[in-house]
Amino acid sequence: MIVVFEAHATEEQIQNVTAKVKALGLEVHRSDGVDHTVLGVVGDRKRIADIRQFAFLPGVRDVIPVSSPYKLASREFHPEDSVVFIKDAAVGGPEVVMIAGPCAVESEAQIETVARAVAESGARLLRGGAYKPRTSPYAFQGLGEPGLALLRQAADRHGLGVVTEVMTIEQIPIVARYADALQVGARNMQNFPLLVELGRCGKPVMLKRGMSATIEEWLMSAEYILSSGNANVILCERGIRTFETATRNTLDLSAVPVIKHLSHLPIVVDPSHGVGDRRLVPAMARAAVAAGADGVMVEVHPDPDNALSDGPQALLPEEFTALMNRCRIIATTLGRKIAKGA
Ligand code: PEP
Ligand code: MN
Repeated sequence: MIVVFEAHATEEQIQNVTAKVKALGLEVHRSDGVDHTVLGVVGDRKRIADIRQFAFLPGVRDVIPVSSPYKLASREFHPEDSVVFIKDAAVGGPEVVMIAGPCAVESEAQIETVARAVAESGARLLRGGAYKPRTSPYAFQGLGEPGLALLRQAADRHGLGVVTEVMTIEQIPIVARYADALQVGARNMQNFPLLVELGRCGKPVMLKRGMSATIEEWLMSAEYILSSGNANVILCERGIRTFETATRNTLDLSAVPVIKHLSHLPIVVDPSHGVGDRRLVPAMARAAVAAGADGVMVEVHPDPDNALSDGPQALLPEEFTALMNRCRIIATTLGRKIAKGA
């Protein structure tokens, strides 16, 4: 249930309702919006005999039953779009935040070349895995902490924020030390103990959609992070498995308007993993901006043919620049913006 207060409700009235809800053994999450304060009440709904008992309390404007299994991720709880800051990039605001970098950090020269190029083209955040979830145990698994350090240093030299994947609970402290946002990979979307711990990590989390997850399951995973105390969650659509084999995955761009309807959380699109083929990435990046994505994440590599992972889908830096210029036209046309870069 969600309790919406009158615009002029006093702090005392809000505290009074909060105390009554807590007395029932339920948890309260508060959101102070522009016009109204809203309480999200979560827990066993059987504890509330009749939600109307709250509707008549002083200061309360409305009590809304929430039928969706996610509450804190729902639009009802937070009617305005949430804005999540990654370093100084506001994801979910008027800017379409561009995130770029290699699949994996491989060397200082590689990450420096990419960081310089993508910063010049207007990317705000540098991506790159130091801990890689690979299908084969014999494939390159990432550089680990030295990779995180190279990523951080390259980002700092070019004024970029850092987004990088965390695969296990044990890795959270070390990844949080170097990164501005922690990425949960598609394969970990339903690693619930990891999500709970990320709720306590103090950094924004970018939650990728599982390759066979429904949108509702994805939002339930976001709910794990939110209900564990972290309001800074960004969703990332990266393609789902279907019967189609022409592309690596099927990039579900309809997820963008669906998420915008159901949730207040920002959503970013990753066309690189979505299609798996660099020739198809620019078109889907443009489509993502047109669909209303709050950001686009693209894999870029200076030498894709020799990349240690995901070479076929990596753009060359100059191809990324062209993509940025065309996405910027679409963003501007729609009343949004994409940073210009150096
Ligand atoms: C990645 O971003 O490099 C990655 C491993 O993505 P996903 O989890 O979406 O496969
Ligand atoms: Mn990759």
